Amino acid sequence: MKKQHLLYGIRNNKLVHISEVEKGIKCDCTCPACKGRLIAKKGNKVIHHFAHYNADECEYGYQTSLHLAAKEILLNAKEIFIPALFLKIPFSNRYPIKIVDAQMVKIDNVEVEKTQDNIIPDVIVYSLGRKFYVEIFVTHAIDEDKLKKIKKSKISTIEIDLSKIDREITDEELKHFILDDCEEKSWKYNVNTELWLEKFKMIADKKAISVRRMAQHIDYCPIKMRTYRGKPYANFRDDCIYCEYYFGDYDNGILCTGSKMIATKEDYLNYIKNNNKNIIMD
Ligand code: SF4
Ligand SMILES: [Zn+2]
Repeated sequence: MKKQHLLYGIRNNKLVHISEVEKGIKCDCTCPACKGRLIAKKGNKVIHHFAHYNADECEYGYQTSLHLAAKEILLNAKEIFIPALFLKIPFSNRYPIKIVDAQMVKIDNVEVEKTQDNIIPDVIVYSLGRKFYVEIFVTHAIDEDKLKKIKKSKISTIEIDLSKIDREITDEELKHFILDDCEEKSWKYNVNTELWLEKFKMIADKKAISVRRMAQHIDYCPIKMRTYRGKPYANFRDDCIYCEYYFGDYDNGILCTGSKMIATKEDYLNYIKNNNKNIIMD
């Protein structure tokens, strides 16, 4: 792993950037992780950074300092950009369905280091009556166990992946990664994908699979993918899993929206509107 320089220290219980402190021991800072004394190295050769005074560098200093800095940024921000949300249909090769557009959302409140359902999210953001978690990935991505707990608690979670940035991140850059549109930001879990998958499944037709020799056929394919002696059908492996109307399997068949021509969220909403279905829309 590349050497990561510590750019933030703690002074008078406040996080300070290396640019804000005096050179040397006069910086009067401690390490955000191990609380050890720091020295500010502000020479000409190496990027300005903190080092542990009379001690080895500690393992978590860099990670903890970026976490704290990210939290500080969110605490002072009014808005955060959230990435678009896509629903991937399990075991299908169809394109993912856009569920929510990328957008700026207002930040009403922010909480840090607060235990929720056995998880300690890096940051909890409250926005327009909802909340979501923001996880900052510096050296440790969200692990299986944490993801499982997040899914169980049904709180949508964005991860900002700073692990591949192979240079020191300035204060301004960190602000950009946290608050703006950038490819380092992605949804690790979003409750809306589950809700929308359920909606599509509920409206889909159940179509049985007929096994004929080595092939698995769906008889009466609504979009007439293939025909045999005038009778429409589809081949599960060659057609359905690539089809925009395929929404997964049930016991002995597939879930297909071909008869209603619902391939996207907009198709679904139009269908409901045109058919006056009394279904709660999200
Ligand atoms: S998923 Fe597509 S190809 Fe398969 S039966 Fe339905 S409409 Fe036909
Ligand atoms: Zn330390």
